[in-house]
Amino acid sequence: MAKRIGLLGGTFDPIHIGHLRSALEVAEQLNLDELRLIPSARPPHRQAPQVSAADRLAMVALAVAGSPPLQVDDRELQRDRPSYSIDTLLSLRGELAAGDQLLLLLGWDAFCGLPSWHRWDELLNHCHLLVLQRPDAGGVLPPALSQLLAAREVKDPQALRGPGGQIALLRQTPLAVSATQIRHLLASGKSARFLVPDPVLAYIHTHGLYRASN
Ligand code: ATP
Repeated sequence: MAKRIGLLGGTFDPIHIGHLRSALEVAEQLNLDELRLIPSARPPHRQAPQVSAADRLAMVALAVAGSPPLQVDDRELQRDRPSYSIDTLLSLRGELAAGDQLLLLLGWDAFCGLPSWHRWDELLNHCHLLVLQRPDAGGVLPPALSQLLAAREVKDPQALRGPGGQIALLRQTPLAVSATQIRHLLASGKSARFLVPDPVLAYIHTHGLYRASN
């Protein structure tokens, strides 16, 4: 049987309950066999992460332990190049069965910026796009994306069929948590308890991460 695999990329600097709840809800709603969290090495679109790839990977691994179908995938950390989604998809496709379904999870804002991504017009050859739409979503859709949506949108995410090629929007109310907020709390000596899983917090403290001197 073909597998359904979700992909959530991010810097995860650090991973927090916003990422984890969102991922778990998608996995349950869409009956995913796996939802892989993929820490990025050198994100093309933003500043360098504050802590090392090894630490971010270790924290994601601690966060998902014992919560199938959430899994960590370290392939972007194996490359010493910017993490382009197209390369990640091609690498995954090289390992999976031809019929396996890949769903790339994107926030609405990220979706609106898609035309600036490297080889963006090839992404749908390898996966579906699952766009997570917040109730307050702003962001103006460029004309190229309006056309793409008109051609490829499936109204019900459950109805995504085949290995890739379609787009579905999924409404989700995210928890108001960000890694930026957590880094600021820790740098000012405040607690991040209940915003990250306890084993992640223990790792942060053991390794002295995100202190003002880092
Ligand atoms: P930062 O504050 O450093 O920008 P972040 O908290 O937004 O980080 P990222 O690692 O950049 O975390 O996010 C990875 C993915 O998770 C992105 O697709 C982002 O939209 C999504 N995400 C971030 N925060 C939340 C949240 N609270 N709920 C649901 N999804 C989230």
